[in-house]
Amino acid sequence: MSQKPYRVLLYYQYVTIENPEEFAVEHKAMCEEIGLKGRILVATEGINGTVSGTVEQTDLYMEKMRQDPRFADMIFKIDEADEHAFKKMKVRHRPELVTLRLEDDVNPHEITGQYLSPKEFYERLQDPDTIVLDARNDYEFDLGHFRGAVRPDILNFRDLPDWVRENKEMFADKKIITYCTGGIRCEKFSGWLLKEGFKDVAQLHGGIVTYGKDPEVQGELWDGQLYVFDERIGVPVNQKEHVVVGKDYYSGEPCERYVNCANPACNRKILCSEENEHKYLRSCSPECRTHPRNRYVAQHGLTESEVEERLQVIK
Ligand SMILES: [Zn+2]
Repeated sequence: MSQKPYRVLLYYQYVTIENPEEFAVEHKAMCEEIGLKGRILVATEGINGTVSGTVEQTDLYMEKMRQDPRFADMIFKIDEADEHAFKKMKVRHRPELVTLRLEDDVNPHEITGQYLSPKEFYERLQDPDTIVLDARNDYEFDLGHFRGAVRPDILNFRDLPDWVRENKEMFADKKIITYCTGGIRCEKFSGWLLKEGFKDVAQLHGGIVTYGKDPEVQGELWDGQLYVFDERIGVPVNQKEHVVVGKDYYSGEPCERYVNCANPACNRKILCSEENEHKYLRSCSPECRTHPRNRYVAQHGLTESEVEERLQVIK
């Protein structure tokens, strides 16, 4: 199999970074010098990044990072790609790597759920006493998820703790396993679950990305695509079969195509076919369709009467 010319790296490390603001500035300069593009978050508690570049550029980056004792054992998840997955290089300083907005922050070095290998996770997925909790946002779940997983009804990861408290009875007497894209959210979230009093909590080590690449499980029991936070939007996971679970927002037909609502004040992610994008002016509601700054209307140069015509059709 021939290697593609680009790669996308996904990585994180919970490790103390003194002066994260200064680190972010220097790190950005280094990434730009190498020629990488991507998005990296830096906090006192560590680093979380996804970057794209050529094979040589990403090799150089990993080498440089591993020379730093703080990141010497950092795991890089590597995807091959045909081109850059980002337009720009952004390195931002943030108070937290993942936003749970907890009263008491969780340090994964002190408390976190048991780590499960892909094989162990695969076995636990089939255990009737285990509840599988998706630790991601609803739009990520909607594009793809583990078969039988619980979909928290949340728009933002930070709302997950409240959602768990409100749905506590669902987890009574169950073992809990959690998963997320690369593992970083589960490190904190599974620790929070333990703190909250849940006894048997485990997490998928390395996340869905690692699970999909595992030579033994090969992504089995995953349905749909994995939502990723770069221009690819969705990537495959299950190497054995592909079951589409995404549904067109308007028609309910199987669909894996995400667009953003054309109302810039809304920007909600909606799964829809090209046909329905045009039919519904790429907008999620009547209010969004008639928003004065609707991007679809502007992009297509629709006149008022043309908009009115389309609105009549979908009434
Ligand atoms: Zn909308």
